Amino acid sequence: MITPVNLQQHYRILKDEGISLPDLFTVPTIPLKEKLLRKFGVPIARKLPIKGQYLLTSAVKRFRNPTGKLKLNYPLDFPECQIIAEKVKEHNLKPWWGKRAVVCVSHDVDNSQGLRFVTKMADIDSSYDLPSTFNFLTHDDYEFDNDLIRSLIHDGFEVGLHGYTHDQGFAFRNPKNMKKLLQKAGQVLFAENFVGYRSPALSVSEQLFQALGESNFLYDSSLQIASPFYHSVRIPFPFYMEKYGIWELPLMVQDDNYFRDTNTPEDLILESITRFINEIIELNGVFVINFHPHLMIKRENFYKNLIKTIKAHHDVAFATMEKVIEYAKGDISQ
Ligand SMILES: [Zn+2]
Repeated sequence: MITPVNLQQHYRILKDEGISLPDLFTVPTIPLKEKLLRKFGVPIARKLPIKGQYLLTSAVKRFRNPTGKLKLNYPLDFPECQIIAEKVKEHNLKPWWGKRAVVCVSHDVDNSQGLRFVTKMADIDSSYDLPSTFNFLTHDDYEFDNDLIRSLIHDGFEVGLHGYTHDQGFAFRNPKNMKKLLQKAGQVLFAENFVGYRSPALSVSEQLFQALGESNFLYDSSLQIASPFYHSVRIPFPFYMEKYGIWELPLMVQDDNYFRDTNTPEDLILESITRFINEIIELNGVFVINFHPHLMIKRENFYKNLIKTIKAHHDVAFATMEKVIEYAKGDISQ
């Protein structure tokens, strides 16, 4: 097993305790009903006018979580993480550039509305000296903008792939087509040296990981931890999935969990994020949080407060997901 060079001790604890990372990071099998819905239902729903799409999403939201209350699993809710935190407590380890943990902020650009807010969001991140990752679609409802990509990279941001289109059924399509589309998207993106992937709506399958590995992606960030509505890998560390030849950097939480799945007041969101970061510090882990530009347009002040809250933690490093993987691989200086 390839072990992140900076987390040898943590990986040893997991091994000694009989906790199997390959088991935790097994790609979940999506139930057939959901697979069919994502494959055939969602593309039809996306053709509805915006209002129809909104009503449909609200109905699904109410069905999934009738109380509308915030439901999240925090890392220390999981016994695996409790063990790690307990065992590393006395060592005061600083495995991330001399800091106890690392925070990665990502932005999945889902639509043209989101695209219009990218520059503003990048300006906000820059003003707080926060290097973030923007994941783009290459062939959806917005024009892929090479100048924008180049200026983001120039300013220290990472650019990754969120898909050829925002096809929630992508992971369940014919593997040959999947690879073809990934490569087509890659031709646009690899020109700009991107190495990361986040699947639309976190749809995953073995075939998808296979295709990502064969298409030379360095890492994926589509397996998640905190939402009870998806499979959780429970461990907030990078993990090399040997079977596919790709690193996984699990997503902890995203704005959807606060704004789409629930109606959480902004002060509670900030509290929740602070709790995540405090727990991630105890674990020496990676906190990956995703904020969609299209959801932040009307919440600019909240977004600024959020970044301020995140940056207020001095025990943590801030890096793009790509840098985190390179660091864990030992490719950039310790
Ligand atoms: Zn998306």
